Amino acid sequence: MPNFTVKRYGLDTSGRALWMTVYMHNWWEAVVKDLGFRPTIVQGAFMVRDGGGAAASAGYHDQAGCFDVRTWDLTASQLGQLVRTCRKHGAAAWRRDQSAAHGGMDPHCHITLGTDRPLSAGAAASWRSYLNGHNGLANEAPDYEWRPKPLVTKPPAKPAPKLPGLVRDAVLATRKAKRQTQRVPQPKRFKALSRALDILRGIKLP
Ligand SMILES: [Zn+2]
Repeated sequence: MPNFTVKRYGLDTSGRALWMTVYMHNWWEAVVKDLGFRPTIVQGAFMVRDGGGAAASAGYHDQAGCFDVRTWDLTASQLGQLVRTCRKHGAAAWRRDQSAAHGGMDPHCHITLGTDRPLSAGAAASWRSYLNGHNGLANEAPDYEWRPKPLVTKPPAKPAPKLPGLVRDAVLATRKAKRQTQRVPQPKRFKALSRALDILRGIKLP
């Protein structure tokens, strides 16, 4: 069950409290790890707690799922990488800037994690827009960013533990079951063997 508890993660670049769910924070840390650099968050989620989001954000940031990242300090290649990585991790991400096609706003990257909860009406609308292949803006023009094929609509599951670790766990569990064979009642022995079997089932053979 995702942890949708809202927590404060320091301040944003305007000195406002930076709120997001534990779920979204963990998601972002996984993105940052993948990126190899850490973009700066300029506006978080739950802006109602800070007295409402920027007018240009139209309430998108009032609840969960949305935050904005600074783009002027990223190279073109880093910006492209940011958009692609967020999308591979199951969120919508669009670069916004002064051009009409990109929203006609101060440059930033807007991110909507559609599986975060609760989404504001605006956040939910931008997520639907993404799912429908649009740009998340009022004009609902076609999406102008790279789109994963097939679209990733939720964060990918964590990679399975490495094979050697699983084999070791299975061996230890089997040994324990063997040790218990002569001296413990049947149900406990069965439990230990079931545990070993469960571990072995988790191993995906190449
Ligand atoms: Zn935004």
